[in-house]
Amino acid sequence: MTLIDKNLAHAHKSDEALGEIAKVLFRPMGADGVYARTALYEDIVDRMAALISRLREPDTEILRFPPVVSRHIVEKSGYLKSFPNLLGCVCSLHGTEREIRAAADKHEQGGDWTETLKPAELVLAPAACYPVYPLVAARGAVARGGVKFDVACDCFRREPSKHLDRLQSFRMREYVCIGTPEEITDFRTRWVARAQQLADTLGLVQNVAPASDPFFGRTGQMMAISQLQNSLKFELLVPVRSNEEPTACMSFNYHQDHFGEIWDIKTAGGITAHTGCVAFGMDRLAVAMFAQHGTDIAGWPASIRRALMLD
Ligand code: 5GP
Ligand code: ZN
Repeated sequence: MTLIDKNLAHAHKSDEALGEIAKVLFRPMGADGVYARTALYEDIVDRMAALISRLREPDTEILRFPPVVSRHIVEKSGYLKSFPNLLGCVCSLHGTEREIRAAADKHEQGGDWTETLKPAELVLAPAACYPVYPLVAARGAVARGGVKFDVACDCFRREPSKHLDRLQSFRMREYVCIGTPEEITDFRTRWVARAQQLADTLGLVQNVAPASDPFFGRTGQMMAISQLQNSLKFELLVPVRSNEEPTACMSFNYHQDHFGEIWDIKTAGGITAHTGCVAFGMDRLAVAMFAQHGTDIAGWPASIRRALMLD
């Protein structure tokens, strides 16, 4: 049995084994897919983030976003067409002191105070890269060679689940590129190779495969087929819960001119800019590491410990 075969045989974990791992990594917070993270877990998230930072290409602008985004940006980006079921919106009580008091007091009286909520101008960020495009558009034409960003934020997607690899609140890190079609496809090709090396360095059993987003509804199915046919999305898959249905820990996305059109972003050559992003699911990567290598970090292979600067 080669090392790879041995890894594969032990690649995924049973629900029971994952439950034991969860006890060490997380603490409950009263909602499925929303967990407090232990120091052990968070240390590995930080170390993986540092490893991803060391791979950053030169001339990449770093921005860190809050967990909320302007509702206007997300609406204009087309999110309501694609994933209306996943979006979380910020709501609050509006009005005079009397109106707000009356609404809040309904709770004390056993009533439903939430009926009075009104949407604010914010939604919870469903992915890290949405704020980048209007920001670049406001700067004028994109310089020759394209522009690159390193962004991250806490993301929210409304899909409660008991599975460790499906959180409602999770961290996403992204490298984003805006430029000509060729610049974006080159960017994505470089990152697929680099990401696979990264996963190999971390001892993760992985493969990269064409993928489609879980677009909503029946028209969504057609969008997914077209995304597959045009090779717009690839995912780096790691067997966490099952070998047959491995978990997407990273995605490599080519949006073509979708965001360029919406935000009117032009290249130096005057064409509508194309965009792409590579997304690292930091929580899925961390869970995959513990599922693959166990929770005794001292016993992790020396090469992995070195890569994470644990030694
Ligand atoms: P995408 O935008 O491709 O759906 O998501 C980018 C990455 O975020 C995914 O490859 C995955 O690693 C991470 N991600 C997406 N959904 C979830 C989720 O429900 N839970 C966790 N932990 N990570 C997610
Ligand atoms: Zn993105």
